[in-house]
Amino acid sequence: MIDCWIGLGANLGEPLAQLTQAANAMAALPQCQLVATSGVYGSRPLGPQDQPDYLNACAHLRTELSAHALLTALKGIEADMGRVTTRRWGERLIDLDILLFGDECISEDALTVPHKGLEQRAFVLGPLMDITPEHFTLPNGTPLARLWQQCDKNSVQRVQHRLLS
Ligand code: ADP
Ligand code: MG
Repeated sequence: MIDCWIGLGANLGEPLAQLTQAANAMAALPQCQLVATSGVYGSRPLGPQDQPDYLNACAHLRTELSAHALLTALKGIEADMGRVTTRRWGERLIDLDILLFGDECISEDALTVPHKGLEQRAFVLGPLMDITPEHFTLPNGTPLARLWQQCDKNSVQRVQHRLLS
């Protein structure tokens, strides 16, 4: 089993309901166990500003799937939930990104792991801090806590203690 962390985001419809639905769908994936979910964080959008604020969270999964098979499964959940692709960094019903997949490093357009932007984004680092062990490091050796200290923490606000209780 590989430990991996999935970023969840939504800013259309009822974001909290969609994050919850997606976490439950991940828990039901074959060859996957949902270990924990993070707090829920609110933030302003990246990119186009004429869109609603986001809610983000993170899920810790253990899986026997490959990273590519997991990505396919996550895209299936997004599609089942009615996600349609709009503009880059545009509004979405649900976004599921593989943040970390064990210690694997993959750099393909279709799958980049660790996820691009992870090291700077408070709305990813905050949720990750909630559900990773103390002294957790990225595959490149950088301590997660250092990245969390350095990022713009004022850009996020925790609005709920845990996504799934
Ligand atoms: P974004 O999440 O960057 O706002 P999308 O969800 O529309 O945008 O994803 C665009 C593409 O990014 C997807 O088709 C997917 O194949 C690719 N991608 C690359 N790396 C990852 C990753 N780590 N997790 C999820 N998707 C990824
Ligand atoms: Mg995505």
